[in-house]
Amino acid sequence: MLHRIAIGGLLAAFVCLSKVGLAESKFPGSKGDTQSARIASPKTPQKRLFTGRVVMLREAFKRRNISAFDEYKDLVALETDDGELIPIVPDWRGRAFFQDKRLRNRKVELIGFRRPGIPFLQVITVFTFDKQGVRQFTDYWCDICSIPMYEIKPCDCCQDEIRLRFQPQELPADLRTPKETGQADRKQSTQKETPHTEKNAPQN
Ligand SMILES: [Zn+2]
Repeated sequence: MLHRIAIGGLLAAFVCLSKVGLAESKFPGSKGDTQSARIASPKTPQKRLFTGRVVMLREAFKRRNISAFDEYKDLVALETDDGELIPIVPDWRGRAFFQDKRLRNRKVELIGFRRPGIPFLQVITVFTFDKQGVRQFTDYWCDICSIPMYEIKPCDCCQDEIRLRFQPQELPADLRTPKETGQADRKQSTQKETPHTEKNAPQN
């Protein structure tokens, strides 16, 4: 029985991928390119790690005695640990923060970038933390089709409900926080400093 379900899942995923491919080619301008291809574009600024919590912009304004009318009522921003407000672009990855209050008002680490002269943050990867403080790669998942998604919507394939998914995961080695990098450095204290921290990465 389990075997049959597994095969069914694989078939569903295969059909889904075909459908997604067809759907993408229907959109003018998409030219069938993938999200990863766009991320890898040489025009994309270098990725950075942004930490803090995502909040409704007007709530953050209110705490700073700034009043704004309803035009700003749906906007969200990352409030960094230093108190800086960085509005988030509601693109394929940032949109979830507008849709899903479970992602707001909690500690997050966001991998993303800002373009020169543009204050907005474009998010690429979302990490949240569980009650024990364990870092969780966070996205959405369809249990039937076994495909990830990045916003709340019916599954791309079976149209069923998807769920918010948390997976324990370390930060990429080149984006670790100074504290974590420091811990790794101490383990490698006899080695010369190198520009890359990958080899010094803690394996916990
Ligand atoms: Zn599905």
